[in-house]
Amino acid sequence: MKEVKTPKKPLIFYYAIVILCLMLFNSLIMPWFAQRQIQTVDYGTFMTMTDEQEVGLVEVQSNQILFTNKDNSVVYKTGRMEDPQLVYRLKDSGAIFSEEIVEEMSPLTSLLFYWILPMVIFIGIGQLMRKRMMNKAGGDGMMFGMGKSNAKVYVKSSEGIHFRDVAGEDEAKESLTEIVDYLHNPAKYKEIGASMPKGVLLVGPPGTGKTMLAKAVAGEADVPFFSMSGSEFVEMFVGMGASKVRDLFKQAKEKAPCIVFIDEIDAIGKKRDNQLGGNDEREQTLNQLLTEMDGFEGNSGVIILAATNRPESLDPALTRPGRFDRRIPVELPDLQGREEILKVHAKKIKVADDVDFQKIARMASGASGAELANIVNEAALRAVRNNRSVATQSDLEESIEVVIAGYQKKNAILTDQEKWTIAYHEIGHALVAAKQTQSAPVQKITIIPRTSGALGYTLQVEEGNKYLMTKEEIENKIATYTGGRAAEELAFGTISTGASNDIEQATKLARAMITRYGMSKDFDMVAMETLSNQYLGGDSSLTCSMQTQTEIDRQVVSLIKQQHEKASQILMENREKLDILSKYLYEKETITGEEFMSILNQ
Ligand code: ADP
Ligand code: ZN
Repeated sequence: MKEVKTPKKPLIFYYAIVILCLMLFNSLIMPWFAQRQIQTVDYGTFMTMTDEQEVGLVEVQSNQILFTNKDNSVVYKTGRMEDPQLVYRLKDSGAIFSEEIVEEMSPLTSLLFYWILPMVIFIGIGQLMRKRMMNKAGGDGMMFGMGKSNAKVYVKSSEGIHFRDVAGEDEAKESLTEIVDYLHNPAKYKEIGASMPKGVLLVGPPGTGKTMLAKAVAGEADVPFFSMSGSEFVEMFVGMGASKVRDLFKQAKEKAPCIVFIDEIDAIGKKRDNQLGGNDEREQTLNQLLTEMDGFEGNSGVIILAATNRPESLDPALTRPGRFDRRIPVELPDLQGREEILKVHAKKIKVADDVDFQKIARMASGASGAELANIVNEAALRAVRNNRSVATQSDLEESIEVVIAGYQKKNAILTDQEKWTIAYHEIGHALVAAKQTQSAPVQKITIIPRTSGALGYTLQVEEGNKYLMTKEEIENKIATYTGGRAAEELAFGTISTGASNDIEQATKLARAMITRYGMSKDFDMVAMETLSNQYLGGDSSLTCSMQTQTEIDRQVVSLIKQQHEKASQILMENREKLDILSKYLYEKETITGEEFMSILNQ
């Protein structure tokens, strides 16, 4: 990787650009220079100047007349007219004529001036830019030539990541152990005739440790690690994607056994559509990747790991046998996983001895590994800000909210009425949740606005891990979402825009009950929706007739209405508690789940 190679194809490209620039220079810029030296005037001016004896030299050409002023400092040009008296008049004025004024450039000078000089300038600029680019790329001690893969050789000694650094994700680690074993001892596998999968696809939401796992495989097996991101292929190296893939594999084969990691493989491996104007660049890159994968033996010692969070969008050609035929899910961590991840990252900072990691893990339900790492780091920052030498439980708890809901917006100005509305709204959610036995208890309620735009929120905690939800639980959840609005109605008789997110969530749940979970009487267990993007946003498409869609809409409305009424009922029955708790929250702005429950149970 040290020497810088200049391959042929891009060079031609650069020559073409240089020549194009030269032509532009010659046709546009040079004439402009030339014109500045000679002033064009009309014939009348020429005659006047002649008569007033202001003309120095004159040269009459076939279709124009060039002349200078008396001290030859300015050259003028004018069109030639049929003028028989001209010679006499010029003689009278004392001008010297028929002498060469503007010396025509000799072929050599013109070559120098029009071609060689600009060429030198352009090449100079080109070299300068190249040098700058290389300095940038060489920041990590490596250089890359144009068209050469910039996959980084993973340095084992300094950054060696091992399986123990990746917390949770036990299933994924177990699946990858076999590959590590193979890299350690390929002979064992060869002997029996088993071949390793060439490609392994790590599938899961962003920030769950897919990159870490790939690095850990290399670290455990003590082999080089080449990594490259799919979006880099298509975005950064326009016209070079395919050649970069070729280079990457060439390097990898030389260094085998090794790991090649392709992050965001969906950027190059998207399904090829037959639409006009498809991305040729991407297709070429993808084809090259497929060719490379087919080209080497299963036992060559090169293992390709790829990561994606949109497996459903991958081209089926990629997942065919002999390519990425093994798929390892890397899911969001469960409660125990979250606790382990928090502990792993807490080792890097100083934390108080009495920190309850399990409680924090509970509060951070749904957080990814990357978010948990972020929470720990935020806690350390907060401790420094408050002049503490260790991060405490409250630092960590506040960090969850920072990471999940954005920083506290201390200077947000709410009117008094707004503050009351938000207090009632949040207590509404919490009360409805608490009164329905199966809803998760409340952890914390706050009406301090967050930079994320949330004005207040109720942090619910799920006890343990839940894999299944019953119909009643979902209904209760919908009721809880409607509880905020229901409290506003009850307390003020008017409603606000504060419930927009609740409306969205409640609708999503209600729809899913009918179209995906088969929880309505009318449609029984008929699937009416397919999920097209499991990990990002969860796009889905309906697979039913227009008539059925109308019916679904009607049922969604009635389901939500029913739960909304239930929530209102609960709040009306507990009207006194609603008022007391809302007042308490209005005054304190943030209250814990315990405070809430003790007031509720008084
Ligand atoms: P992905 O490739 O899935 O998007 P990464 O592997 O890049 O995620 O993870 C980003 C960061 O999040 C890591 O550098 C690490 O600090 C943290 N992280 C994610 N998952 C884990 C985990 N399971 N254990 C420890 N740290 C994790
Ligand atoms: Zn709400």
